[in-house]
Amino acid sequence: MAIFTTNCPHCSAQSISLTVHYATETNRRKKYLFCFCPRCFNPVTIELSSGLEIAEFKHDRNVDISQYSQTIILNIIPQPVEYCAPDYTPEPAASDYIEGEELKAQRRWRAAGFSYRIALENALKAFDPDGSGKLVGRINRLRDTGQIPSSLASFAHEVRLIGNDAAHESERPTEKDIHEISALCELVLQYLFTLPGILKERMNKAEQTEIDQ
Ligand SMILES: [Zn+2]
Repeated sequence: MAIFTTNCPHCSAQSISLTVHYATETNRRKKYLFCFCPRCFNPVTIELSSGLEIAEFKHDRNVDISQYSQTIILNIIPQPVEYCAPDYTPEPAASDYIEGEELKAQRRWRAAGFSYRIALENALKAFDPDGSGKLVGRINRLRDTGQIPSSLASFAHEVRLIGNDAAHESERPTEKDIHEISALCELVLQYLFTLPGILKERMNKAEQTEIDQ
């Protein structure tokens, strides 16, 4: 089966060999490849211009169509997914969270779990910059000093525990674990940064309106 090496628009896997399941053409210049990503198993359609004959695409061998010099990609369907962190999440926690989302889409559960845990660790540093010791103690300290409510501390502990397993245990985290840790991590970031960010923005707008009046 032919392959086509490019980035997957679903899971952001870089330079991955998509497997070509079907090839067709609408006219002499435009050809369409119907492919699957071997990492996330999602379908990808590639529209291209190529001087190659369509029969060349149907070779029952690992010919990489992207390597032919006459091949030009015109369009990749769907458009690449843009992953983003909850609004107002500071760096580096935002990038760690986005990395977790990309790894989740690539079904790399252990690496994703580790990234979400690092995102949590860096997010909490924004509240406790001189915080030392283990993450468990830092979460509890923020809870005990009233900087985060106990319900949020419980969510943070769940992210920490799944992330710990991802980093150290021989047993790999499951897909369900990672979807759970992703949702909890998003919730923690929204509580810590998105909500205060929106409130601050509205207060600034209200103040500005008062000054203008
Ligand atoms: Zn993919």
